[in-house]
Order: sequence, then C-alpha cells, then structure tokens
Amino acid sequence: MEAKRICNFNDISLNTETTLCFNFILLSYATINFLGNKAWLFIFLRKKSLILSMIRTIQLRLPKNDSLLKTLRINAQIYQQIVNAGYQNKTFNKNKLHRLTYKKIRKKYSNFPSALIQSVRDVASEALKQTKLKKKIKSRPNSALRCDKRTIRINLKDNIATMSSVSGRQKLYFQQNRQSLKYSDWKPIAATLSYKKGNLFLNIAVERETPPKIIANDYEILGIDRGIKNILVSSNNQFFNSKHFRKVKCKYQYLRKMLQSKGTASARRKLKKISGRERRFVTDTNHILSKIIAESDFKVFALENLSKIRRPKKEICLGKKFNRKIGNWSFGQFEVFLKYKTEVLGKHVCLVNPRNTSRKCSGCGHTETKNRHGSSFKCRKCLFELHADLNASRNIAILGITEYGRLSVNPPNVTVELPVTSLSFQCR
Ligand SMILES: [Zn+2]
Repeated sequence: MEAKRICNFNDISLNTETTLCFNFILLSYATINFLGNKAWLFIFLRKKSLILSMIRTIQLRLPKNDSLLKTLRINAQIYQQIVNAGYQNKTFNKNKLHRLTYKKIRKKYSNFPSALIQSVRDVASEALKQTKLKKKIKSRPNSALRCDKRTIRINLKDNIATMSSVSGRQKLYFQQNRQSLKYSDWKPIAATLSYKKGNLFLNIAVERETPPKIIANDYEILGIDRGIKNILVSSNNQFFNSKHFRKVKCKYQYLRKMLQSKGTASARRKLKKISGRERRFVTDTNHILSKIIAESDFKVFALENLSKIRRPKKEICLGKKFNRKIGNWSFGQFEVFLKYKTEVLGKHVCLVNPRNTSRKCSGCGHTETKNRHGSSFKCRKCLFELHADLNASRNIAILGITEYGRLSVNPPNVTVELPVTSLSFQCR
C-alpha cells in the first residue's frame, strides 16, 4: 500500500526515515513507471501546456436502467452527507472530507462503488469551495453523478458503455445520434450521468489533439463586422441582414411585455417557456451563421473585440435604445461558436480593437466622424464611397492582418471590387 502510494506520480512523498538507498530505488521505479506510461506523459505534457487539445461535450440518451437510477439516488444521499460534514467542520479539503466521511459511507452504503464515493466527494468539495462555506447546500434527489475512467468506459464506435453501479458493472447500449457519430473518433475522457424528465442522460467530454494551425496569406483574412441592421457583414461583400431575426425578436419582446404586465402564475409559466424558445432561436441562428463563416475559403477571421461594449464607462452614454439592442443580440455566443468551429479546421479567429472601425476610410485610412452618414460611408478626403458596414468590415480585415502578425506594406485585396451578395438570412 505504502509503495503504491509513493510511486504514484501525483503524490511522490518520500519518507525521510527510510534509507537513502531505498529512496533511490523507489524514485527510479517511479520514473520508469512514469516514462513507461504514455498516458501519464500525455497528462504531464498537457498540464505543462505542451500539447494543446480540444474538448467537446456530447449528450447521449441511455435506455431505462433501474440500478443506475438507484445509484443516482444514493449518490444524492452521499453527496448530502459529505456536504453537511464539510459545512459543520468548516472544510472543503478533499483529504479532510475523506477522513471525516469515507468509513461511515462505506459502512452504510456497502454496495456503492468506492471509486464513485471518491468522485462524489470531489464534487462536494468543489461545491463547498464555491459557496465559501457560507451557506448550507441541499442536493436534489437525482443530482448528476460524475464518472471517470475507473467507473465508466465508453465506446462511441460500437455505442456501448459500461458503468459501475450499486448492482455491479452495467452494460449500456445507447442510441447513436448526430453528435456521437461526429465525435466517434474522439477520445472520451469523462462523463456525467444525469436524470431529466424521466430519461437518463450521459454527458460525455471527448478530447482530441488540436490540429496544427494553417498559415494564411493576407488575402485569406476575412473581416467581419457585427451590427444591428445587418447581423454580419464580411469584407468579401457578403451581407447577412437581420430582417427575419429582428422580426422574431420583436415578437418575443412584445409577448414578454404583455405577460410581464399580467403577472399571473400561468403568465409566468408561459414567460419561462417563451424565454427558452427565444434562447434556442438565437443559438440556432448563431450556429448557422458561424458554420457558414467557418466553412468558407478564408483561413483567418477578424472580429471586433466587443468584450467591453456591454459595460460602457459611465461617461460614455450610448443611449437606452442602443443598449437594449446590444443586450438583445448575443455577439459573444457567435464569437464562441466561430472559435470552436474554426479550431477543428485549424483556422484562426483574431480580435481587433473596435476603435474607429466605422469612421475610418478603408481606401486611404482617413478618419473622421463626418465620413459616416447612417448606413452610407463617404470619405471626406478621397471621396471613396461604400456601405458603412462593409467599410467597417474591410477596416477590421486590415486590422486583422496586423493582428495576425504580418504587418503588410501592401493594402489587402479586400478593396478589390467584388459583386455584392446580399443574403437575407432565413431561419428554420
Ligand atoms: Zn479615403
């Protein structure tokens, strides 16, 4: 037991009382053990950020299984017990929690696998840490159960998973879905078992090494301007107008206002339902848009860094109406989606400073507030005329080139006149 503990790479603790020779043997055994095991090496390198990996989560529906349900129920009870012990003894330290509760739990729930007890303890410890031990935590009757490689094994190719439960190892055949097909060659690293609306679900984290980044030329950098009238305008003259989007958004806004003024219980229920539907509509829109952009021929996508736009400084007042519009449109979600969709393809997303992108002339670089009049742009210096959003997207592309790390002396070919394509964006 002692030797095993010492040889564990994560916990190399050498006893000072043992002889030097014994120490040396153990240390070399630990090193051989460590180097011989590629998995450990991989984890070590990843911890040191030498290997970059992508992690995605997929959800699978499991067939009905009584012993898994029972495991989930006991999981909630154990979780409550550990959380209570942590709260009473004012600790979220995993070792202390283990010493406080493990033996009691093992005695009370003798058929609950010990590896699962440890993962429940970890989850409880994290929850206690989050609340800073200031308030009591109450578990739900079917709270989710975290599994690791000891307690679950998933084969996405054959659609089989085996999992520890109160009545031994369970073999689960799950139905293939779009996600499991897409990520079938990724490596499952962890999973959570949950129970929702009468169904058992498995949320699986899958991992793959990040593909090497493609090296792009200046003309392969696309500038994207995100706005309110046009959701997106890209520097290759593509317009995604928001007519349909705004129509749907206005409908929900109106419904929300009506229901809020009513204030009855049924109105609140309906409100909740509507907010879910609206959120799904926005997510769907962002998925479609980011997919179109990511799968285009361009290799680098430049976006404005809008992370500070939601919270303008007190001196800068953008107006109530503008703030509402900004708040309504989830710019951030599009960015996240685009980033992970391009990552798989080895493409880049770079963020540029949004300052003056709509006031600057993309032809000569002259910056003046009067250059812009609503949706039209006319340079006061070189009389260059263009749609204001398109001009902004070209400025973003130019900034993107700088950001990408290659200060170009030549202007990018974004100013080459391409036919303007307007895509009136239609949602399902
Ligand atoms: Zn100009």
